[in-house]
Amino acid sequence: MALPKFAYFEGKIVPYAEAKVGVMTHALNYGTAAFGGVRAYWNEDEKQLFIFRPYDHFKRLLRSARLLCMNFDHTPESLTQVLKDLLRAEDAHEDMYIRPLIYKADEMIGVKCHDMTDEITIFTVPFGRYVSNDTGAHVTISGWRRIDDNTIPARGKIAGAYVNSALIKTDALRAGFDEALVLTQDGHISEGSAENIFMVRDGVLITPPVYENILEGITRRTIIQLAKEELGVEVVERPIDRTEVYICDELFMTGTAAQVTAVTKVDHRPVGDGTMGPITAKLRQMYDDVVRGKLPKYRAWNEPVYE
Ligand code: PMP
Repeated sequence: MALPKFAYFEGKIVPYAEAKVGVMTHALNYGTAAFGGVRAYWNEDEKQLFIFRPYDHFKRLLRSARLLCMNFDHTPESLTQVLKDLLRAEDAHEDMYIRPLIYKADEMIGVKCHDMTDEITIFTVPFGRYVSNDTGAHVTISGWRRIDDNTIPARGKIAGAYVNSALIKTDALRAGFDEALVLTQDGHISEGSAENIFMVRDGVLITPPVYENILEGITRRTIIQLAKEELGVEVVERPIDRTEVYICDELFMTGTAAQVTAVTKVDHRPVGDGTMGPITAKLRQMYDDVVRGKLPKYRAWNEPVYE
């Protein structure tokens, strides 16, 4: 992967090579960091780069900060401004992935969250697809369980918690699958390693509620709104049993990186007729239009980078 030219680091935009931390850094040793994953999409007709829902992403990041007892003077607005400056410095004119990272910067030994130095860094890289087979993914049910709210809160995007996601993803890929769904401690479907999950049963769109140890996904929220407002589809948030995904009509995963990824097979069982279903296909297309600023009704979600 190509490295960024610049990063926002310790309060200013610096050449990427200067954005470095020491090996004693608390976050590196103990996972005491949290991050975001944001995308910016290039609109060729308008020759404009649109960041998708940056205020919502930064709002979630600052909530993760509260979970880790971090304090920042920044607001979603000030961070969006920093991000725009950074993307302009990069001279980005293509689809980009943006990684804001907040971390415990002290170089010290001792496990705790409070009374420490907290820093924010942001970097951006050109980015295409995340799940390679996003029109017909084959997923498995992971043997790992999802971290619980009383272990490491999944609603925060806490760096250390991503060991759980990494174990899930590695075992899925090594076993020949594209992704895995992970169960909560009591055996319901929670989400993918880095995606929320939706299934369609008898025309109703169903997704696990926030108390099922999911990350409160911004793509999830976007899809719920689009399904209701644009497709008139009923959306229900309720726990999903493991075997429901074996018999549902459609299945897809959502995430900033994964966008809308169709799942057509679960543990060698075809989903529906084994091809992408109609509600999934419509939402996929609509999501791509919305993120590129092509639907006027949702333009408030598209933050232009260039004047
Ligand atoms: N769940 C997990 C565990 C994730 O890492 C992500 C990616 N951020 C998501 C869900 C999807 O969230 P979002 O739509 O906000 O990117």
